Amino acid sequence: LGAFGSRSIATRMASYSRSLSTLVVAEHEGGFVKASSLSAVEAAKYLGEDNSISLLLAGSGRSLQEAAEHAASCHPSISEVLLADSDKFTYPLAEPWARLVHLMQQKGSYSHIIAGSGSFWKNILPRAAALLDVSPITDIIGISGSNLFVRPIYAGNALNTVRYTGSDPCMLTIRSTSFPFGPVSACSFSNAAFVNKVDLSTFTEDDVVGKSKYLSLSSQDTERPDLGNARVVVTGGRALKSAENFKLIEKLAEKLGAAVGATRAAVDAGFAPNELQVGQTGKIVGPELYMAFGVSGAIQHIAGMRDSKVIVAVNKDADAPIFQVADYGLVGDLFEVIPELLEKLPER
Ligand code: FAD
Repeated sequence: LGAFGSRSIATRMASYSRSLSTLVVAEHEGGFVKASSLSAVEAAKYLGEDNSISLLLAGSGRSLQEAAEHAASCHPSISEVLLADSDKFTYPLAEPWARLVHLMQQKGSYSHIIAGSGSFWKNILPRAAALLDVSPITDIIGISGSNLFVRPIYAGNALNTVRYTGSDPCMLTIRSTSFPFGPVSACSFSNAAFVNKVDLSTFTEDDVVGKSKYLSLSSQDTERPDLGNARVVVTGGRALKSAENFKLIEKLAEKLGAAVGATRAAVDAGFAPNELQVGQTGKIVGPELYMAFGVSGAIQHIAGMRDSKVIVAVNKDADAPIFQVADYGLVGDLFEVIPELLEKLPER
């Protein structure tokens, strides 16, 4: 990828004259807009000048209101926050959310609709696109004007430049690692955007009914940073041998204030939960520091972490492919290296 890496493409922006309006469909949690959604706002800036950017938040209850306050003051490019406040959106069910995006397009006639590339929007955007009869372009890592996009193919081994020639809206999902937005906590509460409630009176019960049903949510109750946006990621592979041993990775992550990642082999073997998988079929990460222990460096794993700024690899096999992408490599046994690191690193 070299000089054509995702960041350099993201920053090469063409000027554009047509008036633009973009709806960023956002996710929120615990009263905060997720960093991946702020990256979607960042991406919208590359579509062209004079782009009026609205951010849609849906849900119910106090955390939605708090997220709206956060959104209104957190990115200078957001001109309006649209609030769809209804218990119909309390749970992330695809049907009502897809209908909501459809409704918003009917009301706002946006030129573009953008979301992050996470599993939440992977479930919803294609359905909304079908309702709107447009074809979405996914996993974008570079934007050159309003209709020219770059996306990786073949597990990131080639870049595909796509020109959108369909009708409005042009629907996009973006990789947040390619459009980073500064720390979310750095939001200033001056210069706030307008918060407007969405009129949902035309939203009927039929819009809510679908094939999916909310049962329950089980998630890891952890203080650790979110894998997709963490500054440091510590990943373990099959070499850990058991879930018990995988705790070594968790301990190290804790000491470093890092997120935990896992290879697919480690996940399939039951050492780590599914949501920690990094790679082509897992999460795409781009931290400042990525540490891989007992990870061979299969192409499908590299596809999810190659954008990391500094890559450190520890592997017993000096010929392991992970060393080809590592900035620092140590040929050694992780069962010796990690305990030593744990001993030498200061307590946080
Ligand atoms: P291995 O390949 O078994 O490597 C283990 C490594 O640990 C070896 O290099 C070995 O030398 C080293 N080792 C062993 N013992 C020690 C020790 N004591 N100390 C230090 N090093 C040691 N994989 C992903 O990770 N993410 C994906 O999203 C993903 N998607 C996939 C999608 C498809 C369609 C397919 C076909 C595969 C996908 N895979 C994915 C799987 C991928 O091909 C590899 O099988 C997987 O990444 C290997 O995981 P691993 O490196 O943990 O295990």
